[in-house]
Amino acid sequence: MSPAPELKATLTLPQTAFPMKANLPQNEPLRLARWASLGLYQRLRKAAQGRPIYLLHDGPPYANGPIHLGHALNKGLKDFVVKSKTMAGFDAPYVPGYDCHGLPIEIKVDEQLGRKKLEMPAPAVLEACRAYAQKYIDLQTSQFERIGCLGRWETPYKTMSRDYEARTLEAFYGFLEKGFVYRGLKPVYWCIHDRTALAEAEVEYEMHTSPSVYVRYRLTSEPGAIHPALKGKQVSTIIWTTTPWTLPASMAVAFHPDFDYVALAVGDQIYIVAAELAASVAAACKFGLVSELARFKGSVMERATFQHPFLERSILGVMASYVTADTGTGAVHTAPSHGAEDFYTGQRYLLDSTCRVDASGRISVDPEAWTLAAPPAFDGMKVWAANPVIVAMMEERGALLAVSDLEHSYPHCWRCHHPVIFRATEQWFISLETQMEDPKGEKKTFRQKAIEEIDKVIWDPAWGKERITNMIATRPDWCISRQRIWGVPIAVFLCEGCQKPILDPALNRKIVKLFEEHGVEAWHTTETAALLPANAACAHCGGKAFRKETDILDVWFDSGVSWYAVCESDPDLKAVYAAFQKGDGREAPKCLYLEGGDQHRGWFHSSLLTSVALRGHAPYSHVVTAGFTLDEQGRAMSKSLGNVVDPLDIAKHMGGEIVRLWVASIDFREDMAASDNLMQRCAEIYKKLRNTFRFLLGNLNGFDPKRDRIAESDLLPLDRYMLARTRELNENILGWYERFEFHRVYHAVNEFAIVDLSSFYLDVLKDRMYTFAPTSKERRSAQTVLWQITEALVRLVAPILSFTADEVWEYLPAMEGREASVHLAQFPAPAEIFSSDPTDELVTWRQLLLSVRNRALLKIEALRKDKLVGKSLECNLNWLVPDHQKDVYESYLPSLAEAAIVSKVEIVYLPQEEIKERLLSAQIINTEKGASEMPSATLAMDLERQLANEDEARLAIWDVEAVIATGTKCNRCWRYTDGTSNYGIWQNVCTRCQDALKEMKINPPKEAAL
Ligand SMILES: [Zn+2]
Ligand SMILES: [Zn+2]
Ligand SMILES: [Zn+2]
Repeated sequence: MSPAPELKATLTLPQTAFPMKANLPQNEPLRLARWASLGLYQRLRKAAQGRPIYLLHDGPPYANGPIHLGHALNKGLKDFVVKSKTMAGFDAPYVPGYDCHGLPIEIKVDEQLGRKKLEMPAPAVLEACRAYAQKYIDLQTSQFERIGCLGRWETPYKTMSRDYEARTLEAFYGFLEKGFVYRGLKPVYWCIHDRTALAEAEVEYEMHTSPSVYVRYRLTSEPGAIHPALKGKQVSTIIWTTTPWTLPASMAVAFHPDFDYVALAVGDQIYIVAAELAASVAAACKFGLVSELARFKGSVMERATFQHPFLERSILGVMASYVTADTGTGAVHTAPSHGAEDFYTGQRYLLDSTCRVDASGRISVDPEAWTLAAPPAFDGMKVWAANPVIVAMMEERGALLAVSDLEHSYPHCWRCHHPVIFRATEQWFISLETQMEDPKGEKKTFRQKAIEEIDKVIWDPAWGKERITNMIATRPDWCISRQRIWGVPIAVFLCEGCQKPILDPALNRKIVKLFEEHGVEAWHTTETAALLPANAACAHCGGKAFRKETDILDVWFDSGVSWYAVCESDPDLKAVYAAFQKGDGREAPKCLYLEGGDQHRGWFHSSLLTSVALRGHAPYSHVVTAGFTLDEQGRAMSKSLGNVVDPLDIAKHMGGEIVRLWVASIDFREDMAASDNLMQRCAEIYKKLRNTFRFLLGNLNGFDPKRDRIAESDLLPLDRYMLARTRELNENILGWYERFEFHRVYHAVNEFAIVDLSSFYLDVLKDRMYTFAPTSKERRSAQTVLWQITEALVRLVAPILSFTADEVWEYLPAMEGREASVHLAQFPAPAEIFSSDPTDELVTWRQLLLSVRNRALLKIEALRKDKLVGKSLECNLNWLVPDHQKDVYESYLPSLAEAAIVSKVEIVYLPQEEIKERLLSAQIINTEKGASEMPSATLAMDLERQLANEDEARLAIWDVEAVIATGTKCNRCWRYTDGTSNYGIWQNVCTRCQDALKEMKINPPKEAAL
C-alpha cells in the first residue's frame, strides 16, 4: 500500500511570496520610482551626518552622446564604492558631474548651424551649445540611474553652470596672479581661407599636389671638424621639402644623432646625407657617379653652421630624434614657426620662432635677412603663390638640386576643404618651470613640486605612479588657450600697443562676479569700457587702448579644477573636502579619484597640476584606475565589428542588475571582456543567487526573530558551524570592499550560495526543516541561522545587486526599527553574526566532519553505482575510529548523520594500526566526475602527518564505511529506523515523526481520502 497523500501535507515545506522570476526589466523602474519617493539619497545624507568621511569625487564624462559600456563600468564601480563605504559606516556623498565645454560639442553645433553660425552673435551660439550639452546630460542621467547608480542626480555638477564657469575663471586668475602664466608662440593648424586655427579633429586628410624640392645648404663652419677627410673642401648638406614657402622661416637643419651619415663626392662638391638615403638622393638629384668620402654619426653635425639658400642667415645644425631614414635626405629643414616638432626643437636651441606668415597666409620677409635694396619677389605673396617663385629663385642661385611634383595625402580644413598650413600663433601657457616656495621656504619648480606630490598619493594599480610621474617629468609647458568659442574665455585685456595683459586682481574679481551672474556670455556682451577703469593705462608701455582676449581655456583646465569648483565650493561637499585637505593626504579622511587608465594623461594629470599650483598638494589621496572594455577576443568594440555591448540594451532585455553583476564579475584593474554571451552567463548566475535567496526566505516562513531566535550557545553543532562560516565570509567581504576587490566579493558570494548553501547546508537541512515540528528547538536552531545568513547576505550583496537586495529586504521577517531600504542599513559587524573567533569551529568541521562527510559521499556513490541503494537515506555509516580515543567522537554523531544525509551513523572502534591498514589498501573510487578521491597513499600520509601533531590528531580523518540501511523506511521522513509503527491509518511512521505530528496537533484522518 502506498503512503497516504495526506502525510506529505504534514511536511513544513518552504513558503514565500518572493517571486522566482525576477522580471528585472519591468520591476527595476518601479524600484527606482520607490527610491525616488523615499528620497533615498537625501535620507542617506541625513543618516550619515557625523560619521567619518569618505569622498569619491566623480570625474565628469563628456556630455555628447548616450552612455556606452565603458561609462556603465565606470559609474557601476563608483556606485559599488559609494554604497559599500556608506554601509561600512562612512559619510560618503556622491555628486556626479558632466564635462560640457569643448570642441566635440562645438563641432556638432557647427554642423547643425552651418554657415549661419558665422552670422550669429556669440551668445546665440553659446546657447545652442548649452542646449546640446543639456540634452545629453539629461539622457545620460536617466541612463546612469536606470542601471541603479545612486547619487545627487537631480543636481549634478556641470562645467557649464554659471557657478562652475566663474570658479574656472577664478582658478585661471589664480595661476595668472601667482605668475604661472605666460604668452608665447606655438604652431597650430591654420586655415588661411577661414583665417582660423583648427584643432586636430577639424583637419581631414585629402590628396594634394606639392612641389618636391631638394635644396643645397652650404656648410660655413670648419669642414675638418666634422671629419678630417673634409678639410679644405666645398661641403654642403641637402634638405628635402614639399613646402618651399616655409624656407624663408628656415632656421636650422636637424640630423639624427645616432644615424650614419656619409659625405658624397660629386665632382668638386661634397654633400652630407644619411647613409641609408644616399642612393635615393643621388638618384633624385641625378648625381651620376658618386663616391663616399667619409662616414660619421649624425651627432658630429650638432652646432655646425650653414648658409641659408637665399637669405642672409646662418643656419644651425641641430639634433632631433624624429628624423627618419625612410624619406628625404636625413637632414631636415627646420622652421620653428611652421611645425610642431620644429617648434620644440626651436625651443631647445633658442631659435627664432617669429611667424612671418599672417592670418590670410601672406608672407613678409624678415628685413634683417634681406640686404638687397628691393625685397624678394615672394614678399607679400600668399604661401601657395610663393612656392614657384621661391623655387625659381633657388634655381637661379644654384641652390636647387632637384624639383618635381608630388601627389600626397595632406591636411585640409574640414569646413572649406582648402589645404591648411602650420602657423605659429600667440598662445597662453602655464610654465612647468615656475618657481614655487614651500612652507619651509624651500624653492622648487612647479614640475618638481608636482612630482613630489605624486609620491604622497596611493596609486592603484601601483604602476600608475610611474606613468604619471614620467608624464609630468617630460611634458612641455601646458598650452591652455584654444581659438574657439564654447568654453570659459581667458577673460583678460591686452594692451593694443605692447600686447601685454593687464594684471589687476580687483578687475579680475569684478569679472568673476559678472560670470557668476551672467555666465561666460557676459565676456562677449559687456563692453570693454564698462569693465575697465576710465583711465586705465598699460603698466608696460602706458598705452590706453585695450582689446579683449577671445581665446578660451583648454577644457582639461575646466575639468581639472573640479576639486576647486565642486569639492571646495559645493555646499554638500565643502566641509567634507576641507576635512580631507586638513588631513595629511594619506590618513583618513580619504578623497578618491577612480577613472580609466587613460586619465593619467587627462583628468588625474590636469587636476594634479591645478591643485599643486593653487593649494600646494594633490587633490586626491587615492587614485584607482580601470582597464578598458574589450570583446571576448580582446578587440575594441566597434559598430563595424558588430561586437558592441550596449548596457541599456542589456538593461532593457535582461535588467540593469545583470550589467552590475557583470561589472562585479571582472577584475577591473585589467582590460575587461564583455559580450552578449558573457552577459548571458551573468544572467544565469543571477538566477542561481535569486533562487538561493528565495529558498532562504521560504524557510523563514513563520519565523519571528524576536520570539523564536535561539541563543547562540544553544544552536546545534551544524548550525553553529554555518554561522561561523558566515562570519568568516562577512569578514572577507568587508576586507574586499575596503580594497575595491569587487570580483572577489562576486566569486565568494557565488561560492557561498552554490557550495555552502545549495549543495550543502540547505540540502542537509531539508530533513530538519520539513519533518520536525515547526516550533521544535532543532528547527528553530536552523531557522535562527538561516535568518542570520539572509540578513548578512542581503546586506553584503546590496552594493552590487542593488535592486534585488532591496527586493529581498521587503520579504525578510518583520522587525522593529528595520530601515525602509537595505541601502539605509549597515554591513553587519562580524561579532553580530557569531560572537567568538570562528577559527575553532571552522577547523573542527573542515578537518573532521566535512572530510568524513566527503568520504562518506564517495562510498555511498559506490553503492549507488552498483544499484544497491538509491537515495543516501537508504544508507547507514560505520565510522571507524581508534579505540584508544573512545568518547572523543560521540558528540559528533548526530551532526555527521545529518551532514551526510544518511539514516544512521554508528561508531566502530578499531585499533589505530588497523584503520591505517584499511586506508592504505582503499581502492580509488571512480565517481561520475572521475577519480575524485585522494590516492590511498596520500590519505595515509595525511593521516601520519595529522597523528604527529597533537592538536590535529584529535581531528584525524579516520575511515568510514557506507552500508545498506537496516530497519523500515518511515513514510513521512524516508529515514530507515527500527522504530516505525502505524499512526492511525498512516502506516510506518517513525517515532520522531509521530512526536512531531503530535506536537503539531495533527491527528491522522479516519479514512484515507482517495
Ligand atoms: Zn577653411
Ligand atoms: Zn602696453
Ligand atoms: Zn519519520
